[in-house]
Amino acid sequence: MSAKIIDGEAVATRIREEIKAAVEEMNATHGMRPGLATVIVGDDPASAQYVRMKRNRSKKVGIESFGHELPAQSTQEEVEGLVRRLGDDPKVHGILVQLPLPDHLDEEAVLNTIPLSKDVDGFHPVNIGRLAMKGRKPLFIPCTPAGVITLLEEAGAEFDGAEAVVLGRSNIVGMPAAMLLIHRNATVTVCHSRTKDLPGVCRKADILVAAVGRAKMVKADWVKPGAFVIDVGSNRIDDPSTDKGYRWVGDVDFEEVKEVAGAISPSPGGVGPMTIAGLLLNTLRAAQMTLKS
Ligand code: NDP
Repeated sequence: MSAKIIDGEAVATRIREEIKAAVEEMNATHGMRPGLATVIVGDDPASAQYVRMKRNRSKKVGIESFGHELPAQSTQEEVEGLVRRLGDDPKVHGILVQLPLPDHLDEEAVLNTIPLSKDVDGFHPVNIGRLAMKGRKPLFIPCTPAGVITLLEEAGAEFDGAEAVVLGRSNIVGMPAAMLLIHRNATVTVCHSRTKDLPGVCRKADILVAAVGRAKMVKADWVKPGAFVIDVGSNRIDDPSTDKGYRWVGDVDFEEVKEVAGAISPSPGGVGPMTIAGLLLNTLRAAQMTLKS
């Protein structure tokens, strides 16, 4: 039987429409719009493309976008100085520093400079620390893992007591996704490059989240029949049959796995659109919080 396809683009479109309506209401009632500042250091084309998309999407829902581009050779003081100024700017409600930063910069120190109330990416150590603790709530949840959970909810996954397996333990996807699943009372196994018998571990999963960055690694015989599979991976592979000579695929072999899984999010078209929608939602929340304080 073929799996239910979880359409991330459709869910993200609905969320963006809700954000747009809330932004218009904020503007009508309080004469203000949420503001998102993006900071990019250097000229990595992939980072530039991600930031462009974030700025465009912000504008489309009525969020004010403040773009800052710093040269690759910027010093730690220059980057932190800019982030501090944005932290003090009342028009800026959210600050996004596009990662990765050039190697000579101390990423943790830069992220520490973002005020907690403007940490719309959710990577501030205090936000991550709260996420890791029982009974504590972060102000903002990292956008990609939040998208994973929303897609699982949309697909009707039961979290309570479910066996969940997360492939990958990165700070931005794997670990926070695992923590969010634990908060929802799933029993979570986190796998990484040293995990033994990955297929065997994955086969136990009622919920399988793949975030490894390995094209089509998860095969049909890794998946428990009826499982919920969320593919975070985004990998460029050569494909001479396309105009560009390449295409994007996930970490899951979609064609195979959709015949076994109960529900599956494709990549592209699954978690990707949810990540930006999550950023816009966090920016709206950050602006709403200033109205309450
Ligand atoms: P990282 O490279 O930071 O982490 C990859 C993780 O996968 C690591 O924990 C690594 O293990 C593990 N891993 C790598 N190879 C294997 C393997 N062969 N077997 C088992 N585990 C393995 O990647 P990210 O978390 O940043 O990203 C993961 C994927 O998600 C990428 O394809 C990325 O492009 C995509 N992505 C998509 C986003 C979206 O918005 N859709 C946002 C962010 C990422 P170890 O820790 O031992 O090295």
